[in-house]
Amino acid sequence: MLKNASPRIISFYTSATIAGFFLLVNVLFGLIFNDELIWLPIVLQTLIIFLVSYLVFLYALTRYIYRKIKLIYKSIHKFKRATKKNLNAVDLSSDIIGEVEQEVSQWAADQAMEIESLKTLEAYRREFIGNVSHELKTPIFSLQGYLHTLMEGALYDEKINMKYVKRAVKNAERLQTIVEDLDAISKIESGQLDTEADVFDIKMLVEEVFDEVEIQAAENKSNLIFKEGANTNFNVIGDRNSIRQVLVNLIINSVKYGKYEGTTKVSFYDMDKYILIEVADNGDGIDQEHLPHLFDRFYRVDRSRSRHAGGSGLGLSIVKHIIEAHKQTINVRSTKGAGSTFGFTLAKA
Ligand code: ADP
Repeated sequence: MLKNASPRIISFYTSATIAGFFLLVNVLFGLIFNDELIWLPIVLQTLIIFLVSYLVFLYALTRYIYRKIKLIYKSIHKFKRATKKNLNAVDLSSDIIGEVEQEVSQWAADQAMEIESLKTLEAYRREFIGNVSHELKTPIFSLQGYLHTLMEGALYDEKINMKYVKRAVKNAERLQTIVEDLDAISKIESGQLDTEADVFDIKMLVEEVFDEVEIQAAENKSNLIFKEGANTNFNVIGDRNSIRQVLVNLIINSVKYGKYEGTTKVSFYDMDKYILIEVADNGDGIDQEHLPHLFDRFYRVDRSRSRHAGGSGLGLSIVKHIIEAHKQTINVRSTKGAGSTFGFTLAKA
């Protein structure tokens, strides 16, 4: 019964026990030494003892509990977060200890979760820094190699000097791509994207991107078209520039990893509140085992092919970041030998 008792109940039972004991002793004394019991003073004294001890106990308990609880709250609320409890007073009718116990175990669980997520973040950060330096190393070493060879005499060798300079430039460009992509990711992560900034026609934007990537597409004799029956104009809401970046990355990938003389088809589907935009190629496709990792930073299915194509391995990661910043989704499906389709949604205007 006293398991979840409040200070009032504890004080009440303790005082009642003391007063009861006093009453019992008095009655026994009265019976043994006097012939007759004088009830009125005994009852009055018992009541006074009960009242005084109740008040003393209540006061002492409250002071004691209040001090202890204040200490506990001070330690668990180190960030001066608003506490539910008003520390200027202890609610005498409630199960204070039970409540504190609950709050402390909630606090401990929160702390454990916080530590766990910090550990994950720290591991992720370490891995990311490792990846970045690894990715930067390759072009830096190549660049150094070509420049040193040129310095040591190749500069005057007409047969190779231009070739080496061009390779050095290519590596410098790769470095630039990686740094620009990292910059783009950090900008998106720091929330500098206004995802409701523009209302624009998505088909017109795709047409612009088709023009923009024309040269790369021509090199691979790729055909960039809209899918018949799914080529209606739609107005969507988003950050036009970053959606352009998404389309450039997806369309360039379809050209880079599609087949020679392949076709990239873009289609739009009306999904009530959203528009689904799909970019499909008829290239080699991607093995199922790679699909869950495709949007990870620096993940490449075929490293040498990606490097050769000048990729940083960050393109799809940027795409995912942008789409998620718009609170939309992106997915990929692919069949080995038949091609890949990347689809993302945007809010309809
Ligand atoms: P990058 O192209 O710079 O390597 P991405 O993040 O754009 O990096 O793509 C990651 C990997 O996904 C690529 O290296 C490639 O292996 C694979 N990939 C992307 N798009 C396609 C596609 N349309 N068809 C086949 N593979 C693709």
